[in-house]
Amino acid sequence: MVAIHTNPDTRQKLEILSSDAQYDLACACGTSDTNRRIRGQGDRWIYPVTLPNGGQSVLFRTLISNVCANDCKYCPLRSNQDLRRCVMEPEETVNAFMEYYRARKVFGLFLSSGVTVTPDRTMDRVYFSAYQRGLGDASLPGESSVSPDEQILTREHRLYQVDWLLRKYGFQAAEIPFTESGNLSATLDPKEHWASQHPERFPVDINRADRLELLRVPGLGPALVDRILQYRTQHGAIQSLDRVAKPNKRLQKASSFLKF
Ligand code: SF4
Repeated sequence: MVAIHTNPDTRQKLEILSSDAQYDLACACGTSDTNRRIRGQGDRWIYPVTLPNGGQSVLFRTLISNVCANDCKYCPLRSNQDLRRCVMEPEETVNAFMEYYRARKVFGLFLSSGVTVTPDRTMDRVYFSAYQRGLGDASLPGESSVSPDEQILTREHRLYQVDWLLRKYGFQAAEIPFTESGNLSATLDPKEHWASQHPERFPVDINRADRLELLRVPGLGPALVDRILQYRTQHGAIQSLDRVAKPNKRLQKASSFLKF
């Protein structure tokens, strides 16, 4: 018998790589079972997500490569596993994403990858993934851990929130609050936790505060802060947050930290 091997085309690669991407679930998941880790019903590389600021979006989600030089015992893609392996070329990835983006089926791109050359080269972007029991080597402590999934996933979410505080909200690493056990709070998001330790910084005057001061207010994200600043420039004083956004729980929370 003669075996015929064919190189997968882009669609076939997406099938393989998006299937293998199921193990490192998309960033910034929400904190309830209803709003995280839900996949699109059609193409498996379309992925609804909840953003750290509470907003919703849809990502084009795939691995760039399921080829990996490493053999991490907890990982189903570890090098000693017998898998069909492939790599998306940069141009293939861009073209596939842009096709979906132009059709307004996705609004962002989330890529991850096995280690193709060196870990440093591969891990240029931040990525956190909660431990997933049942996929790794049985000898690992995580496989028999009794921590509830809810707790593990919330901790993953907290890491993404901290990442946003550092990259988008002007926080310094030394300002990130931890509990007495040295962990991020399971019950308060990191900005709210920080605010609870700094009552002297509140209430913030919504009509005088600068961008960085407003970004410190729990419930306010960069987009809303920009709308507040724009409203102030165009219309003058803001009497209520209803002027810049529809009322919701986040605005309600923000209002309690603001002075009008
Ligand atoms: S480096 Fe990443 S993809 Fe490779 S085996 Fe380890 S966890 Fe899996």
